[in-house]
Amino acid sequence: MLPVVHLVAAARPNLPKLAALWHALAEAPPICTPVLLHTGQHHDAAMFGDLLEDLELPAPSIALGISGGTHAELTGRTMMACEAAWQRDRPAMVVVAGDVDGALAAGLAARKLGVPVAHMEAGLRCGDADMPEEINRRALDAISNLLWAPDEATAARMRGEGHGAAHVRAVGNAMVDSLLRHLPAARARPLPEGLSPGGYGIVTLHRPANVDDAPTLRALVAAVEDAALALPLAWPLHPRTRARMEAFGLVPPRGVRMLPPLRYLDFLALMAGARVIATDSGGVQEEAAALGLPCLTLRPSTERPATIEAGGNRLVTAAQLAAAMRAPPGRAAPIPLWDGRAGARMRDHLAEVLGE
Ligand code: UDP
Repeated sequence: MLPVVHLVAAARPNLPKLAALWHALAEAPPICTPVLLHTGQHHDAAMFGDLLEDLELPAPSIALGISGGTHAELTGRTMMACEAAWQRDRPAMVVVAGDVDGALAAGLAARKLGVPVAHMEAGLRCGDADMPEEINRRALDAISNLLWAPDEATAARMRGEGHGAAHVRAVGNAMVDSLLRHLPAARARPLPEGLSPGGYGIVTLHRPANVDDAPTLRALVAAVEDAALALPLAWPLHPRTRARMEAFGLVPPRGVRMLPPLRYLDFLALMAGARVIATDSGGVQEEAAALGLPCLTLRPSTERPATIEAGGNRLVTAAQLAAAMRAPPGRAAPIPLWDGRAGARMRDHLAEVLGE
């Protein structure tokens, strides 16, 4: 019988990453039975269901239905639900992706039960140890058995931190696998009405540090309004940001096409047609680099420095946004291993480990 491997999906950004491994595991010969487990952190159609469909992922076989609450509540309840699921049905390996609370909770629950954990997107660091995502990354890397890093430099750093060489592998960027797989379908989708290819920029914002504090978010909304004087902008609004704007009494910036969270294929289409993107998303910085779309990152630091070194990304403040939109960075140079083969490399490593 093939070993069972659980792929843990918690929130939207997990899905394009897990999809890369899912599709690689579907290749012959089979090396394991993959099972998609959904913790429930993001759960509605716009943030989860539609993306599953676009990424050609099945409905999760196990749905724990845990969402909402504070960091501790979400983490604790997710750990309890994962523990109960894995006491019933013990997988040979649990795969978690990225840095969201649901991934950390699943990783902790698995390790405490003696189930090995593979961390996809291991070794990322922005250097801000107070950021919730950075706390999750560091904790997950510390407890994971397999560490799948996006590039050689990150893998070398993980080994330098004491992780055994057999456990660390530079696999490349799983997000880019999904992008390359789905780009042809995305390019066939229409752009939202009123936007023409090459004639607009995009904004996305959702990091707590940017949207949870009223003066910070007010300054960002004003900066986006200013930037829209230089270039028409489209802004697919994350539910967290929408809720904070409403709570703080902020109105959408003038001259900006406000959109709901988009389906994966529609968001790829929007990026493929844009001239520049301003974002605080981690995954979007990577996708922009892979597309050659100039990126302005509205954060003081990034855990994706390869996108900056490749020349396609620049860190900016709200005050710098409008000027940076007028003179954005260029296209990112190709980044080694961001080649659509990350899923295959993770599969190879899994096959080695499961075969031992
Ligand atoms: N994304 C999407 N629709 C949108 C905005 C983003 O499908 O309206 C996708 C995007 O292509 C990327 C992922 O969501 O694959 C990034 O997730 P997010 O920005 O929420 O999280 P982060 O990467 O910052 O953790």
